[in-house]
Amino acid sequence: MPLYSTQNIKLYNSLSGEKENFTPIHEGNVGMYVCGPTVYSNVHLGNVRTFMSFDIIFRYLIHLGYKVRYVRNITDVGHMVDDIDEGEDKIAKKARLEQLEPMEVVQRYTVDFHQTLKAFNFLPPSIEPTATGHIIEQIEIIKQIVASGIGYEANGSIYFDVVKYNENHNYGILSGRNIEDMLANTRDLDGQSDKKNPQDFALWKKAEQQHIMRWPSPWGEGFPGWHLECTAMSTKYLGNHFDIHGGGMDLKFPHHECEIAQNEACTGQTPVNYWMHANMLTLNGKKMAKSTGNNILPGEILSGDNTILSKPFPASVARFFMLQAHYRSILDFSDDAIVAAEKGYKRLMEALDTLNQIPTSKTSSLDIAAWKQLCYDAMNDDFNTPILIAHLFEGVRYTNILKDGKETLTEADLTTFKKAMNDLLFDVLGLENEKSSNSQNDKLEGTVNLLIEMRNQARADKNFALSDQIRDQLLAIGIQLKDGKEGTSFTI
Ligand SMILES: [Zn+2]
Repeated sequence: MPLYSTQNIKLYNSLSGEKENFTPIHEGNVGMYVCGPTVYSNVHLGNVRTFMSFDIIFRYLIHLGYKVRYVRNITDVGHMVDDIDEGEDKIAKKARLEQLEPMEVVQRYTVDFHQTLKAFNFLPPSIEPTATGHIIEQIEIIKQIVASGIGYEANGSIYFDVVKYNENHNYGILSGRNIEDMLANTRDLDGQSDKKNPQDFALWKKAEQQHIMRWPSPWGEGFPGWHLECTAMSTKYLGNHFDIHGGGMDLKFPHHECEIAQNEACTGQTPVNYWMHANMLTLNGKKMAKSTGNNILPGEILSGDNTILSKPFPASVARFFMLQAHYRSILDFSDDAIVAAEKGYKRLMEALDTLNQIPTSKTSSLDIAAWKQLCYDAMNDDFNTPILIAHLFEGVRYTNILKDGKETLTEADLTTFKKAMNDLLFDVLGLENEKSSNSQNDKLEGTVNLLIEMRNQARADKNFALSDQIRDQLLAIGIQLKDGKEGTSFTI
């Protein structure tokens, strides 16, 4: 029996504003789409936090035995500088400033994104589609929206008529906005725009002469609007109706509101059962911004190369720090906070070592099954990682009193306890035992240095057969010795 059949997940649905029971459309299977990065600059720490929230959800669902198809896109065209439809394409702008091809910009920052997420031990999504790889699908959706009478052409561009859509649908259903208020509060675009209403959004933009990123379409050469790609890629890989759609809180409006409108205009049905939004990260109590210097890159946490930090921190400590806040709460990053998180992380890892030294008994005086269920209850309650971590610290307390012999566990209970601690820390929270990997490295280094000393002694004794044998056999297993002025060093 899969674990999910005994656990009842409740998750907060941004659409209803309530925690709801989670029931997948197809039993045992979950389809989840998360809006990925626009790859025109280095991924920032706030992005890492957003994607970590969904990495945890992905990991927990897998842990429960669900078959999960997790789709997270790469936006490599169509995201305009001012986040609506005006201004320059973010990638085209960066390419112009750096004198690169747009696809060089895309490649550079896609690689950065992947390397960063790998460093922080993210699981890769099941599918990672790109907007430029799905131009045909996007054009097909535009044709359907135009055929429904909600899309209209103006000067080679296609726009979505929100007022017309709102006659039979609710534009604002996700963000809680009201179209009359939106229209009343929007500046008229002084006749510069081809839109019928200021809130209308672009499905297809005509490419001006100098615009490099362009594709042929029934309406002339152009490029797709930003909101459209997620509608095209989510439904292509998950179907017209799927379980979970997530993203950062800032995407709720207009991006996700527009996605719902596009789907409903096309298929007549709402695409997503559960909308989930992850909250933002602040730095020393303030919004992060490159312009004010109140900014930190994820890699700088690992290198310590930022004046905000007192020292470098392992990726698992950064991960642990972020998971101490619930994904729907704002999280503030500071040096003091991550230093404190490091202490907590070390206590947890030390407890895992201690667990291996606990003797078993004929009887159990602790209720491990009840403790374990409390851990799962925390995750079942809208993926509440801070509460889970509190229970894991209770597990640390158990470990210490078991070690002192004040309480006892049977062999079966001890096995359950150890497995639960390991499963939750490593599989679900995605932490790694930095200490054990470091101590492995320490042992290797110590061993090779010992062999180097023995070789030096052999050479001093003129026993060249032995010194050559040490050098050659180390090389055979991939360790190369290098003799220099400062003595002998090695590379693996
Ligand atoms: Zn999106």
